[in-house]
Amino acid sequence: MEKFDVVVVGAGLAGSAAAYQAARAGLQVILAERGPKPGTKTVSGGLLYTHGLGKMFPEFWKEDPSPVERAITRNVVSFLTPTQAASLDFYDASFGVPPYNSFSVLRSRLDPWLAAKAEAAGAVPVYGAKVDGLLREGDRVVGIRSGGDELRADVVVDAEGSNAWTSRQAGQQPEADNATVGVGVKQVIGLPPGELERRFQLRGSEGTQITTVGFTQGVEGGAFLYTNRDTLSLGLILNMRSLVQHNVRMFEVLEEFKQHPWIQKLLDGGTLLEYSGCFVTEGGLPRVPPLSGPGYLLAGAAAGLFLNTAFTLRGMDFALESGRIAGEVAAEAVRAHDPSAAFLARYAERLRKSFVLRHLTTYRNYSKVFENPRLYSLYPEILTSLLHRAYFVDGSDRDHLHAMLRASHRGKASLWTLGRDMWKAMRTL
Ligand SMILES: Cc1cc2nc3c(=O)[nH]c(=O)nc-3n(C[C@H](O)[C@H](O)[C@H](O)COP(=O)(O)OP(=O)(O)OC[C@H]3O[C@@H](n4cnc5c(N)ncnc54)[C@H](O)[C@@H]3O)c2cc1C
Repeated sequence: MEKFDVVVVGAGLAGSAAAYQAARAGLQVILAERGPKPGTKTVSGGLLYTHGLGKMFPEFWKEDPSPVERAITRNVVSFLTPTQAASLDFYDASFGVPPYNSFSVLRSRLDPWLAAKAEAAGAVPVYGAKVDGLLREGDRVVGIRSGGDELRADVVVDAEGSNAWTSRQAGQQPEADNATVGVGVKQVIGLPPGELERRFQLRGSEGTQITTVGFTQGVEGGAFLYTNRDTLSLGLILNMRSLVQHNVRMFEVLEEFKQHPWIQKLLDGGTLLEYSGCFVTEGGLPRVPPLSGPGYLLAGAAAGLFLNTAFTLRGMDFALESGRIAGEVAAEAVRAHDPSAAFLARYAERLRKSFVLRHLTTYRNYSKVFENPRLYSLYPEILTSLLHRAYFVDGSDRDHLHAMLRASHRGKASLWTLGRDMWKAMRTL
């Protein structure tokens, strides 16, 4: 049996950030990852907001090889019906200059890059090592079990991602609830040279992100499409309860989604390079479990740190920041010879002051807005029907705009329902 200062479970973004921070403080750190190397098991749409990583590695985009793909300057949100797309299309040149707002990333590049930083700082990586459980003495976590081995540590940082199997087994958080669990699938699609730039009007290293609502067979959730250097990342995140209620399968929704005439044009001639899937904890702040206990800290998606506002999908910047703070607090606890619950509670305190829990608190009721089934078929229909009337011209009489609006929702939703939904959304948002 060996003893280390810190054992980190999972070499995703939260885990590698924690290992990097603790190793930099001079601690003996083990970074245990079940995959053969970092980035082989992680799934992300791939839009990374720059600020979190920038705290540890200012100007990380200048590194060679670069851990990022394209600087996102064009953000599009679209409401889809089977043949239409009504979009808000926002281009901002200031997002394309340092320090940048966001980058598209591929986890197969970003994760090994960050884990290598942790290793260079002194952390010892152990890949292909699945952590099977936590070692305990009384209520205190004192290490991990992996295969036949046991490793003791003063502090265990659990950064195992959204399945959170280890911490659920250990009773550190409740079982997942299908109403607040999202199922994510993602494909990486290669396009012929030059096609990406032509189809998305890209120049240099600028990129586009598109998120969509609607055309998911009525299932609650949405889709994303991001431009990488020479590939596209395409995927869906759908609510598990809603998938079951609609009795449809994830891959069927994805395959149909790819046939949408607007989406199809963007994917035409593409080659499927990667296909992956993963769960996402979507409940927001109310689903965040206790973040620490005697001898352990919970970071990243394992702690349910994820936020979807339709405009932004955030998990990676939360993972990086929570991992960084976990590494910092673990180092302080080891130096103080005090891995007690009371000492480690400073982790949650710091997270509360950081953007992670501040932003989750601001948007704590957000998931309620997305529980409205009308958002996924009725409202895209009303919006596109209004725009169709506004743009379509023939010889027949034309209505004024308010008459068009009435005609668009007539027979679909009463003014009372529209007003109530709008009022609820305004109050929640
Ligand atoms: C389809 C999809 C799209 C998304 N899009 C975005 C987006 O565009 N932007 C964004 O910011 N966020 C996005 N997210 C969320 C984001 O991917 C996660 O929040 C983020 O990856 C969490 O990072 P993490 O390090 O906490 O966990 P993960 O990235 O899941 O890393 C966990 C690591 O732990 C390892 N591990 C797990 N169990 C064990 C074990 N028992 N022993 C050893 N190792 C173990 C795993 O192999 C993995 O390497 C998306 C998620 C999905 C599913």
